[in-house]
Amino acid sequence: MKTGFTTTILHSDLEAPIEHFSVHKPMHLAVAFGYADARDLAKVFKGELPGYVYGRQGNPTTAALESKVTKMEDGIATACFSTGMGAIAATFTALLRAGDHVVSSSFLFGNTNSLFGTYNTQGFDISFVDATRVDEVARAIRPSTRLVFVETIANPRTQVADLARIGELCTRRGLLYVVDNTMTSPYLYQPKRHHAGLVINSLTKYIGGHGNALGGAVTDTGLFDWTRYSNIYDNYKNVKPALWGIQQIRKKGLRDVGSTLAAEPAHRLAVGAETLALRMDKCSGNALQLARFLAKHPKVKKVYYPGLEDHPQHRLAGELFKTYGALMAIELADGLDCFDFLNRLKLVISSSHLGDNRTLAIPIAHTIYWEMGAARRAEMGIADSLIRLSIGIEDIDDLIADFRQALG
Ligand SMILES: *Cc1c(COP(=O)(O)O)cnc(C)c1O
Repeated sequence: MKTGFTTTILHSDLEAPIEHFSVHKPMHLAVAFGYADARDLAKVFKGELPGYVYGRQGNPTTAALESKVTKMEDGIATACFSTGMGAIAATFTALLRAGDHVVSSSFLFGNTNSLFGTYNTQGFDISFVDATRVDEVARAIRPSTRLVFVETIANPRTQVADLARIGELCTRRGLLYVVDNTMTSPYLYQPKRHHAGLVINSLTKYIGGHGNALGGAVTDTGLFDWTRYSNIYDNYKNVKPALWGIQQIRKKGLRDVGSTLAAEPAHRLAVGAETLALRMDKCSGNALQLARFLAKHPKVKKVYYPGLEDHPQHRLAGELFKTYGALMAIELADGLDCFDFLNRLKLVISSSHLGDNRTLAIPIAHTIYWEMGAARRAEMGIADSLIRLSIGIEDIDDLIADFRQALG
């Protein structure tokens, strides 16, 4: 039976029988898995039999979450990691070799930007381009380019990558297209629709949603032809070609690097995922109303939110995503101190997180983008007064009242 987004998540645990007719996948805390027939243990090691060997390479609770994420992204397989950064690092470590080139959006999550900077000192060659322009992406491609990496809605300035055209370009050029879908979540957007081969999600954000567990995921959509990818090790060609990529990401990212998602956070993230659609509808509805209120306020100089008509990718965002998301950035009128403003907010919390049920605010240039320096901030369009807002699911009247009194 073909079911809708939320129904599918809610009932996916029951695909396989669970002991005692439990309606949740239980938490499996064991690190080791024993076999009555030692030959079976060997078969599991060789990938000839499904099963678990040692907790660093996965456990049944995390596998249940992986199955949920696969369904949400309409993919064929998912590997979970201890954090979103773990998922990105595993993907790059597993799939790239020294000298390989990557075209990346220059509008990146701050820590991804930092990681790519590190990779550029270690033998990978990552170019940064304006991903709102497909021609810039095309111009950056070289014979050594292995993959193209973009985010859907960039944080904090909310630039929307030209996802469909970049996907067509990658398909035409036979390139692996990797989309970080964290900011939209699979409820607002499935990158598979536009030819993404791999989709990355920080589960810590909207999918988990409650700010009580870290996690990340890489999903293979099944669209990329791994037989055309030069960096698959012969050892990992023992499964059908569609699974070569995710198997190598698992082996390198989990087994070799060890950024494993433990059972307890996996369980919390799976519970959080059940209400993803409800929360996304609510927080993005709140964000649209709040953005309209702030855009009209005399003490706010600028609101960056894809749902506003003056956003450069407003139309594109409307075509791509179910809603305009719940992240925005604002600049206060000249002369106003962003710290004074943040301290006046009573409900909204000054915090570096995003994608939480609670509305959170942070002065970007002074915190998470501090380390990258003024020049790179200018390149990314980050003004010193820019405040990022991650809108939660509070009652909208309370949110507007809080911003009204703080600006007053
Ligand atoms: C938060 C975030 C990450 C990293 O996720 P963690 O779970 O915090 O490691 C990666 N990409 C984007 C777009 C993010 O917002």
